[in-house]
Amino acid sequence: MCSFEKRIKKKQSGAENRCGLCTDSILEPLSFPEQTVDSSNTFILQCPRNELLVCLFCSESAPLLQKDVLLKHLLLEHKLVIADVKLIADLPKYMLYWKGRFLEQPVKDFCSVIKTNATGPVEKQEDYFLLCDVLPEDRILREKLQQKRLEEVLEQQQKERDDSNFHRLCMFCSEEFTGNRSFLLNHMAREHSFSIGLPDNIVYCNEFLDTLQSKLDNLQCLYCEKIFRDKTTLKDHMRKKAHRRINANNREYDRFYVINYLVKKNNSASLFSELISSQVAFYSFEHKEIFLFENFEKFVL
Ligand SMILES: [Zn+2]
Ligand SMILES: [Zn+2]
Ligand SMILES: [Zn+2]
Repeated sequence: MCSFEKRIKKKQSGAENRCGLCTDSILEPLSFPEQTVDSSNTFILQCPRNELLVCLFCSESAPLLQKDVLLKHLLLEHKLVIADVKLIADLPKYMLYWKGRFLEQPVKDFCSVIKTNATGPVEKQEDYFLLCDVLPEDRILREKLQQKRLEEVLEQQQKERDDSNFHRLCMFCSEEFTGNRSFLLNHMAREHSFSIGLPDNIVYCNEFLDTLQSKLDNLQCLYCEKIFRDKTTLKDHMRKKAHRRINANNREYDRFYVINYLVKKNNSASLFSELISSQVAFYSFEHKEIFLFENFEKFVL
């Protein structure tokens, strides 16, 4: 048994008391973005808006905030995987588009096929479909959605820049600020050595400050994200450890910086990264194949 197999064995035995569908990552019950720290390097630029995602094949649907539920449904019920979901600027629109196209033409015309158990007996082989931007139509769609999102963000940023009705209390000293958002941001930087960046680089400023405020309300340090028993201990900790700053590894903040919408993402990363990082599947270097965890037993036999 190679080390890879051992790791999977270990993983499976650890999960045996739990429901087979509720193990790690995407299969977990929901966690809201406010609490999620995405350790991968993917940017999260999708607005957590209250929109509905519809299945590409049936009437099943789920709110955007619970997209993992629908992605799991697509995988288990329709054997379809969408690559690099996190890079899709507008997932509801993306899915609606493909739903329409799949009504016109068979899935096989658009998707790459992943065969599971390709080295095993034919009757144990299964075809999974991968929808990804290798297909020019998919790439163009992704680019269009990204372009549209960028336009929305720039428009929003301009609005916030010009807005003189901004009104908010400083989260450190409760001083009240009215007028341009830069007054408050500059105050926090000057008086409390807390900077989230130049006001002009920021978008969805109120939401950004709400996110930070809710962390402090939960007695959580903004930098190391540890939780403290009371406000005084938290304050002391942040001051002494110089933790009065933002945790740059928290991808939850990416969507508040305009620059992240301008950068062209490297989409050439493994097509299967989504599958693998969500631990639905793994890549066997030995067999040069993708295997789904579900079918792993078949593979060992
Ligand atoms: Zn469905
Ligand atoms: Zn203040
Ligand atoms: Zn800390």
